[in-house]
Amino acid sequence: MRIINFLKPFNCLEVPNFARNNFKEYFINSDKVMILLFLMQWFIATFITSVMYDTYLYGFFSGGILFISLLVAFRYFKGTRTMRALVAISMMLFSLIFIQQHLGRIEMHFHVFIAMAILTLYKDTLPIIIAAATTILHHLVFNYLQYYEISAFDMPIMVFNYGCGIDIVILHAIFVVVEMLILTYMIQLQVEHSIELHKTEKEVVELNEKLHYSSMHDSLTGLANRQYLYNHIELITANANRHKDKFALLFLDLDKFKNINDTLGHDIGDGLLKAIAIRLKNILRENDIIARIGGDEFIIVLSDIENEKSILECINKILDIFKKEIVINGNILKSSTSIGCSIYPNDSTDINELMKYADMAMYSAKENGRNTFEFFTKSLNENLHNFINMIEDMDRALNENEFKLYYQAKVDVKTEKIMGAEALIRWEHHEKGIIFPDKFIGLAESSGFIIKLGKFILNESAAFISKLNSMGYKDTNISINISSLQAKDLELYYDLVQIIETYSIDTKQLSVEITESVMMENKTSASELLNKIKELGINIYLDDFGTGYSSLQYLQTFPIDIIKIDKSFVDKITSTIDKNIVLLNTILLMGQTLGIKVIAEGVEDNQQLKYLKEKNCDFYQGYLKSKPLPEDEFIKLLQKDLL
Ligand code: C2E
Ligand code: MG
Ligand code: MG
Repeated sequence: MRIINFLKPFNCLEVPNFARNNFKEYFINSDKVMILLFLMQWFIATFITSVMYDTYLYGFFSGGILFISLLVAFRYFKGTRTMRALVAISMMLFSLIFIQQHLGRIEMHFHVFIAMAILTLYKDTLPIIIAAATTILHHLVFNYLQYYEISAFDMPIMVFNYGCGIDIVILHAIFVVVEMLILTYMIQLQVEHSIELHKTEKEVVELNEKLHYSSMHDSLTGLANRQYLYNHIELITANANRHKDKFALLFLDLDKFKNINDTLGHDIGDGLLKAIAIRLKNILRENDIIARIGGDEFIIVLSDIENEKSILECINKILDIFKKEIVINGNILKSSTSIGCSIYPNDSTDINELMKYADMAMYSAKENGRNTFEFFTKSLNENLHNFINMIEDMDRALNENEFKLYYQAKVDVKTEKIMGAEALIRWEHHEKGIIFPDKFIGLAESSGFIIKLGKFILNESAAFISKLNSMGYKDTNISINISSLQAKDLELYYDLVQIIETYSIDTKQLSVEITESVMMENKTSASELLNKIKELGINIYLDDFGTGYSSLQYLQTFPIDIIKIDKSFVDKITSTIDKNIVLLNTILLMGQTLGIKVIAEGVEDNQQLKYLKEKNCDFYQGYLKSKPLPEDEFIKLLQKDLL
């Protein structure tokens, strides 16, 4: 079947698509080679013939005419099938003339086979078929010319030197057709082989491209990765230097992304990252670079920036895209990002330093409440150094008794009497004055100092409870804040057991406050720890309720006794901008339904208290009653309150 296909005259070789363009050039070159070979044959054949026969001039002239015809044909048809057909006819005619010059000697017939073999150079079956057809037709015609001895201009007409006849023509035709079939089959195999080869080459090239792509891109979002960023930033730097341009480096870190991963699962987290990557890509210009360099960290390089205003415009666009909710698998997610910005060459000409500065600015943005941006400044750098000094200074401060616990009253909403207090740490620095916990708790956590400080806080509060007991205030409950690092193992539990024993306090007088993030970060260990603490009879408060994620789930999983509604919800009661108190009402209602008591945090005025009373909130804390006070002052407040 395959062989029969070759014989379809003009469709005998399907030139593969990939080769159409390349083949044109290949065929032109082959045409040139063929014409050259023809020229060589012409001379050699004329020479051989001239030695043996006086018919050589006949070959010389007819070969010359064919050669000139080929040159003319080349001009018009080079690289085409017509040219190949003409070459095939000329080659064969010349071979056949050569046979006639040698008066049909059988050995000279081999030249026909050689000429046909030469034509395989074209890697096209058509010239082979035409060559075979030319030969057979020639033999047929000259068989009769020889038989009837018809000749003009003394042209040698003998094709067979041992007599002629149609049976001899058929015999020769069979040889020629067999060679034709073998040659066309070989060509077909060659072409198939080169197609395969080309395919493999293409696959290797594609694979290489893929490998290169994946080594330069983030597999999840398809954005550039750190490597790509480093490679390209060198180019951008060189460009900026040449044109005296600036570029901005934005460091983005998604806010509380870990919570999404922990509560909704990694699939949703991944979906969110992908969606954010698409949105970011859409708002950036073509020559800006965006790379994902870590879990929820992105770097954007804004080149050709004119001034800070144009950077700001871009930053605002970025912050804007986070304002719209993102739906992933039916979950409506609200995400935000903190952005730090450094500028080349203003802030630094060193890329690593520039990244570090943008990172620092991003941290500062996080400290400023997240969902915002910060430009790197020299003072930020100084702040960093101050932070490092601060970590070192904390140890000294603890030894020199600079840490003090302040107590903020927890008040019964109905009776407006103090039922306890929250212990809040203050650093009374000998030079800097009072330092508030938001300035050092984070640092203490990241440096691990919080473990030492936590033990101190526990001890101090227990001593304070003991003191209150000795003064007769046996119902006052003191709550202490527990940081995430303290909830990592059971050490806190053993510490609690120990201080309860040491100060012989009733566990009802002690509570611990944890935030949702503490539970999220240590899911299993936190659950074990809290259950054990609960077994001791210590109450567990869920602090800053409403600012985390799947609050309800945690209420069911963990042994929570009291929830503290975050100040931001209480603020809404009196706010003139955002009066949305639906969530506050829902939390209050939910507490009542689940039998969990509720403390409202940050109550600052009577209107808020009135509202909470109406809604049957259990307790409150806030400046309305008292700010956090040093031990002595709190005792005074307690004495006055209970009068
Ligand atoms: P928190 O536990 O949610 O504490 C409540 C914070 O709100 C306290 O800030 C308190 O002073 C403040 N506050 C209370 N009432 C009002 C009000 O009416 N208006 C306003 N504007 N603020 C009010 P503070 O003492 O600066 O503590 C901040 C955070 O630092 C605490 O939030 C807590 O997470 C952490 N923290 C404080 N002390 C400790 C501690 O001893 N250990 C640990 N691990 N963290 C602590
Ligand atoms: Mg608290
Ligand atoms: Mg709170």
